Amino acid sequence: MALRNITLEGDSVLRKKCREVTEVTDRIRILIDDMVETMRNADGVGLAAPQVGVLRRVVVVETEELYEMVNPVITKMEGEQYFEEACLSVPGKAGRVRRPEKVTCECLDRYGNKQVYEVEGLTAVAFCHECDHLDGTLFIDKADGIRSTENDVYEEEE
Ligand code: ZN
Repeated sequence: MALRNITLEGDSVLRKKCREVTEVTDRIRILIDDMVETMRNADGVGLAAPQVGVLRRVVVVETEELYEMVNPVITKMEGEQYFEEACLSVPGKAGRVRRPEKVTCECLDRYGNKQVYEVEGLTAVAFCHECDHLDGTLFIDKADGIRSTENDVYEEEE
């Protein structure tokens, strides 16, 4: 496994739509392993492939357990929660985003087998946040206000 560089806001790779993975190969498994290591090293709860410069639909999330998802699609959303998010690609900023309380996500696992995950709370937030990355969307696009993590004052977005 290897640490990969995390792309930062302003890099166009974060604004592109990622391509589906047609076959879960060893190359994809290496990408997943590297993403997990990079996420843990940065103390993150999730990471999407474009955050390591790869335009493929691959996401990892680690809350109570580790989720490795290829071609994730959120198929069901329920309820609402309002949670302050941050992103390893947008250092120094945080902002509250409205997200569903519960989501159902269909994907392939690292062996290419179909999986269906039903998650809630922080894990649901992370699934939505990471899946947004695959379509070039960042949490700062959706947040009601953004604050610097250096202080607690919210600035209103234009
Ligand atoms: Zn992010």
